[in-house]
Amino acid sequence: MYPDRVVSGMRPTGALHLGHYHGALKNWVRLQSELPCLFFVADWHALTTHYDDPSVIEHSTWEMVIDWLAAGVDPSQSTLFIQSRVPEHAELHLLLSMATPLGWLERVPTYKDQQEKLNDRDLATYGFLGYPLLQAADVLIYRASQVPVGEDQIPHIEMMREISRRFNHLYGKEKGFEEKAREAVKKLGSKRSKLYFELRTEFQEQGNEEALEQAKAMLDDAQNLSMIDRERLFGYLEGSRKLILTEPQALLTDASRLPGLDGAKMSKSYGNAIALREDKDSVTKKVRTMPTDPQRVRRTDAGDPGKCPVWQFHLVYSDDATRQWADKGCRSAGIGCIECKQPVIDAILKEQQPMLERAQQYLDDPSLVRAIIADGCDHARKLAQDTMRDVREAMGLGY
Ligand code: SF4
Repeated sequence: MYPDRVVSGMRPTGALHLGHYHGALKNWVRLQSELPCLFFVADWHALTTHYDDPSVIEHSTWEMVIDWLAAGVDPSQSTLFIQSRVPEHAELHLLLSMATPLGWLERVPTYKDQQEKLNDRDLATYGFLGYPLLQAADVLIYRASQVPVGEDQIPHIEMMREISRRFNHLYGKEKGFEEKAREAVKKLGSKRSKLYFELRTEFQEQGNEEALEQAKAMLDDAQNLSMIDRERLFGYLEGSRKLILTEPQALLTDASRLPGLDGAKMSKSYGNAIALREDKDSVTKKVRTMPTDPQRVRRTDAGDPGKCPVWQFHLVYSDDATRQWADKGCRSAGIGCIECKQPVIDAILKEQQPMLERAQQYLDDPSLVRAIIADGCDHARKLAQDTMRDVREAMGLGY
């Protein structure tokens, strides 16, 4: 059994906006105090769609890392690194590609979606088809137990699990595994050995998941087992294979979605975004000029918050009392739209203040950011190398 670990990456898209903060970063900040987390800049992923213009990637990478730090991602709690600085990701991607059926990649729902959405680019490339496999390598190389995702990414995690299972099935045959596992069972003592075999049979013959969990818990508690014996016994429980790669779970995020200023998805390219570190005057101006309920033409017209993008901002930024005030005031024409927007402006500025302060030290001294990333890459690389040693050996490449 490998330790719990969270892995998540973001494509370097330049300065992040508040949609990124509420959709993902806030969640990272919470997770880092609960579990060991690895967060990476997915620069190779950026190339799958922007291979013809890689010039923006470097600048975008550093801007994005500053935004992470500004948002409160803490390098003393989590590991921050750049994907391309850990070349083991590419090696695992290549090795996994040998045994991944083409159909698995073609049926990933986002493959066709993205191709249609980004129809101004030629995405009939090998790299674009393979990007979910690269994602799988990004996660499996750290034997991550959990990957924070939104609903639309669940098929990707499912595929990672299938890839991991397939790999263990194909290559998880340790020489003499059965005998070694049986020797390891003896170390549990006679009472627990008997229980182990009973639970294993119950799981393997009747598919009883509770028996499996009980047996796993027993192994977790067994003090006198070496790491390798424990691994063997976990593998032996589920079959007669060694677990080289683990199966990650999707960690569904209940992230609040902050739409753009016009109510559509917030995106820099739609011109409807507020940057994480946008200056005060610009934030104020953008919110003040946000469209409102189109039926509310004059101050004396009653409006419907359900038809107003500002209301979506109240849902994210305001407390109950403010929401009630806005809802009532809108429906009765008791307040004007400028008045209604002010608490939203105040809340955004309040949220941004500590971010601006945190970012300043990194803007003043970019070498701090470089050092954080260098440390993170070292740490990530060690973990990745451990996995690759096992992967190479399992595939007969350990020479
Ligand atoms: S009062 Fe508020 S919710 Fe109503 S239309 Fe104006 S900005 Fe929108």
